[in-house]
Amino acid sequence: MSSSRLIERIAVITSGGDAPGMNAALRAVVLAAEHDGIDVVGFRHGYEGLLNNDYMKLGRDEVEHILQYSGTIIKSARSERFKTDEGGIEAARNLDAQNVDAFIVIGGDGSFRGANHLAKFWQGPIIGIPGTIDNDLYGTDNTIGYDTAVETAMDALDKIRDTAEAMDRVFIVEVMGRNAGYIAISSAMASGAERMILPELQKDKPLTIDALVKHVEGVNRVRGDSSYVMVLCENQWPGGAVRLAEQLEDRLNFPCRPCLLGHVQRGGRPTAMDRILATRLGVYAVQLVQEGITGVMAGIEKNELVTTPLEDTWVKRKVLSQELIDIQTKCFNPIKKDRHKATVDKA
Ligand code: ADP
Repeated sequence: MSSSRLIERIAVITSGGDAPGMNAALRAVVLAAEHDGIDVVGFRHGYEGLLNNDYMKLGRDEVEHILQYSGTIIKSARSERFKTDEGGIEAARNLDAQNVDAFIVIGGDGSFRGANHLAKFWQGPIIGIPGTIDNDLYGTDNTIGYDTAVETAMDALDKIRDTAEAMDRVFIVEVMGRNAGYIAISSAMASGAERMILPELQKDKPLTIDALVKHVEGVNRVRGDSSYVMVLCENQWPGGAVRLAEQLEDRLNFPCRPCLLGHVQRGGRPTAMDRILATRLGVYAVQLVQEGITGVMAGIEKNELVTTPLEDTWVKRKVLSQELIDIQTKCFNPIKKDRHKATVDKA
C-alpha cells in the first residue's frame, strides 16, 4: 500500500528476542533519516515502551559507534498489554502525542504481528525490519542476526570437536531454532557435524532413539574410534540434549555429553554480513516510509531489496533448502561404505 506524505519524524523500536545487528539497523535508520532531515525517536523496551511513553531522541551522537555491538541500545522486551485493543489504542495515542509520522519495528514475526495490530489503530506508514537469529521469516533470504548466530554455533562446535575427538566421545549440542532448522543445518554443515535433528526433518517421521543409536554405531563401524557430534534444535527432543545424551549413553555404553549453547547465540560481535544486511535494510526502511509504503517488511532476496506484506512473513513458509539437507545426508551416511565392506567381506 502506498500514499506519499511528508515524513518529519520516525519512531523506531527493537522488539521480541534480540539479535546481533539490531544496533546496526538502528544506526542506519537514524543516519539515513538525519540525512533526509527527519527526526528519529526510539521507544525503549519494544511495545512496552510505546505504552509507557518511554522514548529517547536518537541522533548521530547516539548511534555513531554502535554497529559493532550486539544487543540494542534502546532495549528489547515483550509486552502482553500491547496485544489488547486498549494497548493498541494507547500506543497510537502516544505516537500521535509525539507527532510521529512513521513507525519502524526491528524484530521477528511476533513483533510484525504487533505492527499489524498497531495498524488497526494508527494511520502512518509502518515498516518491519527482520531482526531474529532464527532466519524463519518469509520474504528475505537472511534475517539480521542469523549469520552471527551461525558463526557462534560453528565456533562452539569446533571447540566441542577438539575435546570430543581427543576422548572419542559423542556430543549432543543444542542450538536455537525451535521452529526452523537454519542455525542447526548451517552450523552443522560448517563444522562437519555427523548428524542434525531439525524440525523440518521431524515433521513427517519423528526420529527414534533406535535410529540414532544405529547411526552412531554405523559411523563408528566405518571410522573406528572417533568423535561424533550431533546438532539438536531446541524443542526437538523430549528433555532436550541432556535427556538425549543420557538415553544414548545407556544404549551405547560409552560417554555421551550434552552441551547447550543457549543465549550465547544472541551475543558477540555481529559478522560483517549482518552489519551490511542491517545497514541496507535500515536505509531502505527510511526510503519506504517516505514513499508512503506501509504494512510491509523490508528484505533482501537474491541480493535485491524487496518488500513483503507483513502477514506473509509468518503465514508463508520459507522452505529449508533440500539441497542442503541432501548434502548433509550424503556426507554422513555410512551405508555406502558398509555396502562396500559387505562386498569385500563376501568376496
Ligand atoms: P519476536 O518478534 O522475536 O517474534 P515475540 O513473539 O515475543 O518476539 O513478540 C514480541 C512482541 O510483539 C510481543 O511481546 C507483543 O507485544 C507483540 N506481539 C506479538 N504477537 C502479537 C499479536 N498477535 N498481536 C499484537 N501484538 C503482538
